[in-house]
Amino acid sequence: MSIRALVGLLHIERQSHQTQIDDLRRYGAVEHEICRACGFDGSRYDVQELTAALRGLGPRWNLLLVEAGPNIRRRPEPTVWSALEYAAHSRDITALHVFGVEQALTQDEPVYSSISDDLVDSAASTYLEADPNDVGSELAGQASLLADVAEAAGTAKWSRGLTIGDSRSDVRRLLEHALHDSLHHLNDVEVGLTRLSKDGQ
Ligand SMILES: [Zn+2]
Repeated sequence: MSIRALVGLLHIERQSHQTQIDDLRRYGAVEHEICRACGFDGSRYDVQELTAALRGLGPRWNLLLVEAGPNIRRRPEPTVWSALEYAAHSRDITALHVFGVEQALTQDEPVYSSISDDLVDSAASTYLEADPNDVGSELAGQASLLADVAEAAGTAKWSRGLTIGDSRSDVRRLLEHALHDSLHHLNDVEVGLTRLSKDGQ
């Protein structure tokens, strides 16, 4: 995937989650991500907890994919993704945030124009055929890489940022959004699997 396509996908993904991000709270100089739907509050994570939570995503997703069993590719309803589709989406979004954090850390406030495209849909069209073991290990690898890159840079550099369209995010915010996105969808999958198991009774 080209850098341009990655940036476009990152932008579209952020736009699609605007309705989930109800509130931005400012604590000192830091803006945190809050979501009432899933209860995420980025301000609750100190630096160690944030990177530890990112590293915890892989094990959590892998466990959930195992627990999904025969329902792994089943959608609870036609417009709601299956466990495997959500996992593959979360893998791609996590990889995009690795890219975004690397850009923010290595470039001087890079600015990208927003690109309206159907990149999310075209990427999602392959998710159902994916191998769950590959998806799980790739997701775990990207989430750990994200924590590694952020830690290696040091928190003094977490105020560096990038701008897509008219929206700027610093590194800390990108980490919070990556974590929130994945946790939000873990919750979606748990709800969906509960529904499927009830429907199957
Ligand atoms: Zn949420």
